[in-house]
Amino acid sequence: MFNLSRYFSTVSFVLIVLAAGVLGPFYRQLSLQQITELAESRNVAMAQIFENSLRAPLEELLVASLGRDAEFLRQSSEVAILRENVVTLMRNTSVVQVKIYNRLGVMVFSFDPRQIGEEHLNHPGFRAAMAGLLTSELEKFSTFAGFDGTRTDIDVLSSYIPAVGSGGAVEGVFELYQEVTPFMHQLQRSLWWVTAGVFMVFALLFLMQYVVVRRAQRILEEQEGRITSARDTLELQVEARTEELKRTNTQLQGEIGERRQAESKLNYLAYHDPLTGLANRRCFIERLEDSLRESAEQGYQMAVLFIDLDQFKQVNDSLGHGVGDELLVSVAARLTDQVRLIDMLARLGGDEFICLMERVRSEEELAIVANEIIDAFDLPFRLGDHELFLSASVGISLFPRDGMTVVELMRNADTAMYCAKAIGRGHFHFYTPEMTRDAQARIRMENLLRRALEHGELAVHLQPQVDSRSGLLVGAEALARWTSPELGVVQPSHFIPLAEDSGIIVPLGNWVLRETCRQVRQWEQSGFDLPMVSVNLSVKQLERPEFLDVLRGILDETGMDPAKLKLELTESVLMGVGDPSAMLQRLCELGISLALDDFGTGYSSLSYLKTLPIQQLKIDRSFITGIGKSRGDEAIIRTIMQLADSLGFEVVAEGVETTEQATFLATLGCQQLQGDLHGRALPAAEFRSRWSAYA
Ligand code: C2E
Ligand code: MG
Ligand code: MG
Repeated sequence: MFNLSRYFSTVSFVLIVLAAGVLGPFYRQLSLQQITELAESRNVAMAQIFENSLRAPLEELLVASLGRDAEFLRQSSEVAILRENVVTLMRNTSVVQVKIYNRLGVMVFSFDPRQIGEEHLNHPGFRAAMAGLLTSELEKFSTFAGFDGTRTDIDVLSSYIPAVGSGGAVEGVFELYQEVTPFMHQLQRSLWWVTAGVFMVFALLFLMQYVVVRRAQRILEEQEGRITSARDTLELQVEARTEELKRTNTQLQGEIGERRQAESKLNYLAYHDPLTGLANRRCFIERLEDSLRESAEQGYQMAVLFIDLDQFKQVNDSLGHGVGDELLVSVAARLTDQVRLIDMLARLGGDEFICLMERVRSEEELAIVANEIIDAFDLPFRLGDHELFLSASVGISLFPRDGMTVVELMRNADTAMYCAKAIGRGHFHFYTPEMTRDAQARIRMENLLRRALEHGELAVHLQPQVDSRSGLLVGAEALARWTSPELGVVQPSHFIPLAEDSGIIVPLGNWVLRETCRQVRQWEQSGFDLPMVSVNLSVKQLERPEFLDVLRGILDETGMDPAKLKLELTESVLMGVGDPSAMLQRLCELGISLALDDFGTGYSSLSYLKTLPIQQLKIDRSFITGIGKSRGDEAIIRTIMQLADSLGFEVVAEGVETTEQATFLATLGCQQLQGDLHGRALPAAEFRSRWSAYA
């Protein structure tokens, strides 16, 4: 680590030595200069005194010396006079030697006679003085010959001073020696003191700073210690974090893998039907959108084929959803295998499949494909122990003729499929604009019917059922009637199927049931006792798990005697319910009785019917119409009568319009008759006034 103290000590020491080395000589130089200036001024003053005091002999000597030899000068009286005077003047001064030169540089005066006559013309001090300048020189002598004897170890300042004559010109030069030993000694001492002082101050400064620096050094060391330990901790943390990140990363990689798998699974599920593996609705719509664009650009026709299984619901209801699912898988496989011309097959949901056919050339081509689809159902489906016969209805819409958008094409193919179904099982139908008009009319009617229920546009009419022998009233059938402000009187044959399709039949049927019970009970309380009333029941009502509770509620609410209530069911109703026997049993437990309506038109075997808790059969009107015209119908009626008799069923004939029919039926032992011959369905009030006398 950087050692601040050591660095500071070294640098400070060097700087102090340098400062002392510079300051000492500087101070010495300054002092010497002062001493020199002082001594010099004294020398000048002394020379002035000599000049003033000895002017006459001095001038004489300087003039007389010119051109004379040394010996003459030594012997001259002027020199002797001068010596006396100079000695007198120099006594008690610090001047220790005087020499005088004439203009030619010849020494004319000295206390040492041997020097007189020496020539100093080229001496720089002499030459400068002759030029009017003053020069001095400080010298140290171990022995010095002064005017009063020899001296040892002295410091002397010698000055060359111009000697100016009375005319103002330089006539000669004084060389004055002044002893400065005391000054020099003093200088030496003060130099020593100054140096010592400087050293002391610097040392003190150094010490003070050293203390500060040492302290700073300690703080730095402490900080460094802290930083080092913090860094160590940090390194440990970084190491731990790196490890953790590595672990998390590995974990993340795993999670990412799992997520990718999940995503691709989700992606698959988003575009496929998980049951059959076929494309789903979303996938079909996207593909159809692409095909539409392409077909529009290239001017091709394309078609959407809507396929719906005809009896799937019955299979599902009677054999369970497991078998239903298996059947759908088999249907999907068969469609995929047999229908090779189509471009895409998808399952929309339930028993609805849809196909896309691109580049269609003609309707004939489509008819071939549609027939292929229908024919694919010719062979039965084998599922475990079951062998199921199924058929499909196909509706077809064409681009661009029947629609330009995905929605239009799919909706119109669906509409066409409904029409195909209406023709009968196992058919196909092309879409026509009339279908949409019919569908729109149906939708309008459906909306009106919904409102009709809320606005009280419905009513219950009653049709009498009479005893074939006595002609007395044995009961009545409750029949719904709709008088719409927009459509006028609408027949049940119109609105009941619509109500069935749309599900309105559930509230409507329940309303009829409640209204009938209320009416019959009210009659009963007011003295008109209708022996029995029949109410038609839809499969949709029976399917509802809450139906029994609804029925119980109605009986409780109205106070209706269940023994006087009969529910009419058709064979198709029984086919639609999972376990009809159990369901009907629960109804019977309430005390009500059951009739099988439109009997003879369905396919149920009589032995099967025997297992059901049914009390009455209603021979369908179509057979009654045949009495007197069709031997076949008459034979059927006869057979029904015999069977009913042997199985203990009561029989009602419906749609009896003539006395011939009535007589025929009565002869065969048919107890009850219902039909226009005895009376049409009437509103409650009219029914009462017409029939109360026959009850
Ligand atoms: P349905 O239950 O077989 O009712 C008998 C139908 O035959 C009634 O038609 C009745 O008016 C008619 N009818 C009776 N005698 C004669 C006759 O001598 N000659 C002719 N030509 N017809 C006769 P309606 O009232 O039009 O009902 C038709 C069908 O609508 C009913 O057939 C029944 O299936 C259904 N329906 C009526 N009301 C209801 C209801 O409240 N609920 C349910 N689920 N269905 C109902
Ligand atoms: Mg009926
Ligand atoms: Mg009927």
